[in-house]
Amino acid sequence: MAKILCVLYDDPVTGYPPEYARDDLPRVDHYPGGQTLPTPKGVDFTPGQLLGSVSGELGLRPFLEAHGHTLVVTSDKDREGSVFDQELADADVVISQPFWPAYLTAERIARAPKLKLAITAGIGSDHVDLDAAIEHGVTVAEVTYCNSISVAEHVAMMILSLVRNYLPSYQTVLDGGWNIADCVSRSYDVEGMHVGTVAAGRIGLAVLRRMRPFDVHLHYTDRHRLPREIEEELNLTFHETTADMVPHCDVVTINAPLHPETEGMFDDQLIGTMKRGAYLINTARAKICDRDAVVRALESGQLAGYAGDVWYPQPAPADHPWRTMPHHGMTPHISGSSLSAQARYAAGTREILEAWMGGTPIREEYLIVDKGRLAGAGAHSYSVNK
Ligand code: NDP
Repeated sequence: MAKILCVLYDDPVTGYPPEYARDDLPRVDHYPGGQTLPTPKGVDFTPGQLLGSVSGELGLRPFLEAHGHTLVVTSDKDREGSVFDQELADADVVISQPFWPAYLTAERIARAPKLKLAITAGIGSDHVDLDAAIEHGVTVAEVTYCNSISVAEHVAMMILSLVRNYLPSYQTVLDGGWNIADCVSRSYDVEGMHVGTVAAGRIGLAVLRRMRPFDVHLHYTDRHRLPREIEEELNLTFHETTADMVPHCDVVTINAPLHPETEGMFDDQLIGTMKRGAYLINTARAKICDRDAVVRALESGQLAGYAGDVWYPQPAPADHPWRTMPHHGMTPHISGSSLSAQARYAAGTREILEAWMGGTPIREEYLIVDKGRLAGAGAHSYSVNK
């Protein structure tokens, strides 16, 4: 019987379960492009429930315990001697979410001799040292597509929020003020702007589709070019590299995974080639941007705004400079953990566990590392250091 160690974010400060704002979720059958939503044999939760926090347990406990497995759930992951570190020693499976990542470093993987499977309940497995997973024969899987549209919606919201100066204007209302000039001195229309995405995968393409009705000029760069009919449908301008694209853009949105090719990509030099007053939206991974270069660019006016929901480390310390830099629209890492997304990635996690326990193949599109090499979605979108 297996021991499954699940690291989830804390419950609401007001207690669990929360009072829900709505009674149900809209029904979605397929993702764009036709991939089916997760297909576990069953689920033990009601879609729309808070599943991603400790008491939500991704709805896994009845299923796992019915099969004789042990489930340990904790949010305690970073301090010396954390529950995560203690329980990892004899865990067979680790489940973690990018929003509250259990960093499976090479050292931790070396200290987990029984570890066979690391599941990302979400998308983005950069919190797992993939080289070490390859070396130790650990399978890494994530729930591809589960929250891609959730993130694309968040990106569209953040582009509009920054360009139209929404957050400072809202703050004016909270403060009891009415100075229109203060609010509009940094407010523009998105219409006519040049909007570019670094990567046009599931999220990047969904962002392009969502921005199209705003009558903007759309640009993208990616390692693989999109089919010509999509380029024509959206009137896309393709650029061979990020460096080629960003000087043309008023808004740049980053939608690539964090891996050796993308780490530190947006540094002083690259940001310096952007238009003065460009906006940068990063919901992909914090380390794609140089933390202090972003602060410098906002302070100098090179960037008019920066928004996103990804930080390093997570949770971000209270003194992280992105909390206090000017003209930002940061949220904690929430874009991919709406209640809608949680229902999908909880079901996808269960689907992966059912396959693994039943000895049947995990869906190819969920695999990042398998049998000692990059596999599935991982082979397409990631790189490793070897
Ligand atoms: P996909 O795998 O569908 O798309 C990733 C795209 O990035 C692929 O098209 C890939 O290219 C491209 N890419 C990889 N390396 C580069 C590079 N060096 N330059 C340009 N393009 C590159 O993933 P998703 O769209 O679903 O997710 C993207 C990322 O967003 C995730 O890896 C994750 O880090 C982040 N994310 C954030 C969430 C949040 O809550 N904030 C939630 C979900 C994801 P190709 O495959 O053509 O080689």
